[in-house]
Amino acid sequence: MANERKDVDRYFLEKAQRTPRAQLTADLYELYERMFHHFGDRRWWPAETQEEVIIGAILVQGVAWSNTAKAIHNLRSQDLLSLRAIHAAAVEDIEACIVPTRYYRAKARKLKAFAEHVQTHHGGDIGAMLAQPMGELRSELLSIYGIGPETADDILLYAAGLPSFVVDTYTRRIFHRLGYTAPDIPYEVMRAWFMDHLPPEAPLYNQYHALLDAVGHNCCTNRRPQCERCPLAPACNHARAAYSAEISPHTPPQPA
Ligand code: SF4
Repeated sequence: MANERKDVDRYFLEKAQRTPRAQLTADLYELYERMFHHFGDRRWWPAETQEEVIIGAILVQGVAWSNTAKAIHNLRSQDLLSLRAIHAAAVEDIEACIVPTRYYRAKARKLKAFAEHVQTHHGGDIGAMLAQPMGELRSELLSIYGIGPETADDILLYAAGLPSFVVDTYTRRIFHRLGYTAPDIPYEVMRAWFMDHLPPEAPLYNQYHALLDAVGHNCCTNRRPQCERCPLAPACNHARAAYSAEISPHTPPQPA
């Protein structure tokens, strides 16, 4: 047990290790407020139905949302933007619509597998499937071909409205640069850390992930982070080291 604790601890940097639990929660809220004040309500997920969220969550794997939006537009124009339609369609017809998402052959198979699962196990009723308790639903989602932890949590949070925190590349990069976590922190360890320090509230997790996406997309880019216009700069170790004389905790962020 002690060894397990040590294994997990090594993924947390000094700032996370030394800060008392209640203060860590306060830190996470402060980061949230900074992002919300800067970017406002992100209104995620950009979809009209639960099925559209699920289809989008599979298509967005490894590509930008702009690519996914094109594929969703194509599926909609061919009347294929539902699990029932995907279940009935030829895989080649789905592939033709989702070419903009790059790994379109694999993703077409994933969409077909998901639609097949809902048909076989829930009689095609996605509402019944998503109405399960969160733990059971997460296990079921992870058992479906092509559904990894991030996609499963996207579906739990944005399609089912359940409080499951989503971790992605941006989350890892931002929290590493802020000084809390190691860059190689495993998905489940990072998700558990957020869920251990924030109350289980789906609207909070929804907005938090969307705001981190906005920071990652607009400011905390891989090679040249734009710290001078990032709302998190006053709380960020990376920015402090890079611009120590220019950024104080009271410095307002520049517009994105
Ligand atoms: S201040 Fe810079 S390094 Fe820190 S989160 Fe923002 S963009 Fe990333």
